[in-house]
Amino acid sequence: MDKVKNLTHKKNSNYTPQITKDTHVQYMKGVGPARSKILERLGIKILEDLLFYFPWRYEDRKSLKKINELSYGNIETTMCEVLSAEVITTPRKKMKIFEITVTDQTGFLKSKWFNQPYLERYFRKGQKVILSGVVKGNPYSRSGLEMENPDFELVGDEDKFIHTSRIVPVYKATEGISPKQIRTLMFNAVNNYLFLIDDYLPEEVLKRHGLKPLPGAVKEMHFPEEFTDVASLNKGSSPAHRRLAFDEFFLLELGLALLKKKEVLEHGISFKVENYLVDKLLKSLPFQLTGAQKRVIAEIMSDMQRPVPMNRLIHGDVGCGKTVIALVSMLIAVENGYQACLMAPTELLAEQHFINIHKMIETLGLKIVLLTSSSKGKPVDDISQGTAQIVIGTHALIQEQVKFNKLGLAIIDEQHKFGVVQRANIRRKGFNPDILIMTATPIPRTLAITLYGDLDISIIDELPSGRKPIITKVFFPAQKDRIYSLIKDELSKGRQVYIVYPLIEESEKLDLKSAIDGAEALKKIYPDRKVGLVHGRMLRDEREIVMAQFKSGEIDILVATTVIEVGIDVPNASLMLIVHAERFGLAQLHQLRGRIGRGGYDSYCLLMSYPPFSEEAKRRLKAMESTGDGFKIAEEDLEIRGPGDFFGTRQSGIPDLRVANIIRDINVLESARKEAFAFIDAEPDLKSYPLLKETLQKKWMGRLELVKS
Ligand code: ADP
Ligand code: MG
Repeated sequence: MDKVKNLTHKKNSNYTPQITKDTHVQYMKGVGPARSKILERLGIKILEDLLFYFPWRYEDRKSLKKINELSYGNIETTMCEVLSAEVITTPRKKMKIFEITVTDQTGFLKSKWFNQPYLERYFRKGQKVILSGVVKGNPYSRSGLEMENPDFELVGDEDKFIHTSRIVPVYKATEGISPKQIRTLMFNAVNNYLFLIDDYLPEEVLKRHGLKPLPGAVKEMHFPEEFTDVASLNKGSSPAHRRLAFDEFFLLELGLALLKKKEVLEHGISFKVENYLVDKLLKSLPFQLTGAQKRVIAEIMSDMQRPVPMNRLIHGDVGCGKTVIALVSMLIAVENGYQACLMAPTELLAEQHFINIHKMIETLGLKIVLLTSSSKGKPVDDISQGTAQIVIGTHALIQEQVKFNKLGLAIIDEQHKFGVVQRANIRRKGFNPDILIMTATPIPRTLAITLYGDLDISIIDELPSGRKPIITKVFFPAQKDRIYSLIKDELSKGRQVYIVYPLIEESEKLDLKSAIDGAEALKKIYPDRKVGLVHGRMLRDEREIVMAQFKSGEIDILVATTVIEVGIDVPNASLMLIVHAERFGLAQLHQLRGRIGRGGYDSYCLLMSYPPFSEEAKRRLKAMESTGDGFKIAEEDLEIRGPGDFFGTRQSGIPDLRVANIIRDINVLESARKEAFAFIDAEPDLKSYPLLKETLQKKWMGRLELVKS
């Protein structure tokens, strides 16, 4: 049996299929099965993937500098010949340093690599090499010029055309293949297979936006010849980059336009807004709604009355009061005889919502249930029989076995953890229920509109009155005593305190231990205070008890891992200490801080940080100290992290943006968006553009259904 298999396998690998853009890269000259496995790690399977694997930077090797032209302190690139190479072991620390001396007739240059003795085998005397790194060394000493850990590339005479004397692309590589090897492969691919790329954009679009044809743009991305300003290339602002960025945005926005179109065409529930329950609720609240809350509620009511399913994003900073808005909308659904559900990203948050909402509607006589992955039996039955009118839960809500009797409204809290795809899943739980998404991830408005182009957006830009700004300050380990006395002051004023420990997956156990140790230490420091501990590993019941004790004031100090990130509401808590603040992301720090400052007291957020830490961490801490405004924080976060990471496009189920940058290319995004929406408006099934249609479906990996025009 095995023999037969082998034979057929052999036969297959000898057979060269006709080359198309879908041909597996292993059939390409210079690849083969072993290397194609390596390429697969870079996401390259077929020829098209290879051609669309773009460099992350460019190097100008047209005018490589001579050694005597190198300037100190700059990153420079030079080509020279190896004169000598040796491994030196430092006497004290036993560190191995690999050192070479190179020359190019104009001078000498030393290069050192630390703890990489294996480099020895690459450098023979006489070997030509390109070195790129920061030029160091004392100009007044004899030791001359040096580079530490430079990037290097060995060059042979045959390499002249691909790897030198031009602007060369530098690719992200992986174990088993070097940037240079990828460059060679790419050179062959571009020369032989460029013709396989079809331009799927209609001629008139290219004209309107002054875009290059696709094959030419791909070629220029790899081996720039027409446009050779290396600084612009590295900024991603060449005409080729613009073409590819346009494509990414256009395909993204086409998809969003289509999703929106489809929803508009669908029949939804037309709710009657009589506000019997709503008025009762509002009368029982201890506060007046803010203007922004009233405005958003009015927008929701008008959506719910329309016979088209609502698809609205509510966007407002932590603490602006989104929960009441959610509750009001749920009551409208319930008044109309429908069920409403609220889905939260974590179990703890779902519990908190459940407890809060339960309390708010106690007097209304409604049945509300909690469904998480740890609930069994009963809630599922209540949901399917329709006795549960309001359902609060986690992802568990969209599981197969959960059947709603009559779901009319689904609310998703914290949109950044759910995506387009999950939204579709929840929609299937009812007959086109209305959908409301609430997010505290502040995104600049223009971006929100373009990115969530299929949603209507409401913004809450007003916090309830009586909130005081939170004083935020970075502390270092040497200032522990100062922190303890600040905590003591707050406690003696009758306030409560959060102490947050990081919980990072790789070191989960360790972090958990430090939170437990932290709680023990605090008990000793404040022997007359009650210290509680919550973390993600606790059973729900235990956690609920501790949370309830904190809320009621029985516990003074709550030590927690980041499970408290969202949704917890204890107005009497006025101080938060975040331990290892340098390890947290900016959005997360801002979310955490939003837990305090809710009771009208002066509040303090202390960021305990342990140096040394990265430049980025420094910027995050600084941003926290300097502003409490979620939108400013978001902009800073975007700048620090870069947009790809910020939006987590992969998770959210929308196509990747690889070339396009939402900030840098905002103008391209806007024109691509307009174009895309016009296209879908005119011809939602893209009948006249089969190639574009195929590309679109591929990009969205089958998650889009085209609408008949
Ligand atoms: P978030 O938008 O972060 O989800 P919440 O809905 O949890 O905010 O509200 C934060 C706190 O503000 C809660 O204690 C809530 O009761 C309170 N709150 C909401 N709206 C108002 C208001 N209009 N006036 C005063 N307090 C309010
Ligand atoms: Mg909330």
